Amino acid sequence: MERSLTDPASLVRRLRLPDDAHASVAAASERFALKLPEHLAQALEGRGADDPLVRQFLPSADELVEREGFVSDPVGDHAVLRAPGLLHKYRGRALVVATAACPVHCRYCFRREYPYAEASAANHWPEVLDALAGDPSIVEVILSGGDPLSLPNRTLARMVTSLEALPHLTRLRVHTRFPTTSPARVDDELCALLAQTRFAPVVVVLHVNHARELDPDVAAAVRRLRATGATLLSQSVLLRGVNDDADTLAALSERLGALGVVPYYLHLLDRVRGAGHFEVPETESVALVQQLTARLPGYLVPRLVREVAGEPAKTLIPLTPRVG
Ligand SMILES: *Cc1c(COP(=O)(O)O)cnc(C)c1O
Ligand code: SF4
Repeated sequence: MERSLTDPASLVRRLRLPDDAHASVAAASERFALKLPEHLAQALEGRGADDPLVRQFLPSADELVEREGFVSDPVGDHAVLRAPGLLHKYRGRALVVATAACPVHCRYCFRREYPYAEASAANHWPEVLDALAGDPSIVEVILSGGDPLSLPNRTLARMVTSLEALPHLTRLRVHTRFPTTSPARVDDELCALLAQTRFAPVVVVLHVNHARELDPDVAAAVRRLRATGATLLSQSVLLRGVNDDADTLAALSERLGALGVVPYYLHLLDRVRGAGHFEVPETESVALVQQLTARLPGYLVPRLVREVAGEPAKTLIPLTPRVG
């Protein structure tokens, strides 16, 4: 895997942040480790702590503030574990927390408190396969994480081959942050795997929050993914100080559209402990998406959703007041 920064002092030096940034970076990293891949380090150098990309990845003192309602498992993952790393929440779809590892540590991540060590599917694959084999109601497997592309290609290939052997599975989806943070990971071997599986076209959902993340190297990685025939969707999180205005969101959608990626979900922040400073209130979020709706074609407007524990799907936030 590509080199990444994990040490607060090197990060402060590398991004050319003021020396006094070190204490808060170090303190926040104790709670949720710092990780920034080389590709992003280059993009963020000299940008300053308020830059919308830097804000997503720079450990900050705000993370140490306890806020009412921000908890360690905001989306009820523990209740829906079917096997280690296998979450079955929604009809027909099962989500595999393939591995604990991510290319980057996003500071707003709802899994920042997740007990990955016990619950990563790659370490318990026979149990995961057994659970999937025993439930023919599941037709789609979502490889998620962590980030499934943290696994070596040969491990992914073995997983996909064993999934292909379960006749009731018809769809395969991959949720990943790699293309936008470490684009070199989209290599020929991975693309061949995506192109050749019986599940093709695989659905690949890219995690991206700001148009500037889609730089030329990332665009090239997205083109390689498109060439596999994959259906490309994106998901973003609405984040204070990152993408909380209509121009920024519209630019993101336009850029995605230009690369052949359909904006799928815009998530309201999951209320995980340590991420409260990123929250954009629901009424403001609705107003932003209304503005997007007024200026973009419908297919470039993502669905505004919230994850509510116990609900049968992501909860769609209505853009018009409900009647009655
Ligand atoms: C979000 C999510 C899915 C996928 O939901 P879609 O609406 O199909 O994109 C599946 N399982 C879990 C546990 C999820 O959190
Ligand atoms: S890549 Fe996804 S799972 Fe990993 S830290 Fe970022 S938001 Fe969390």
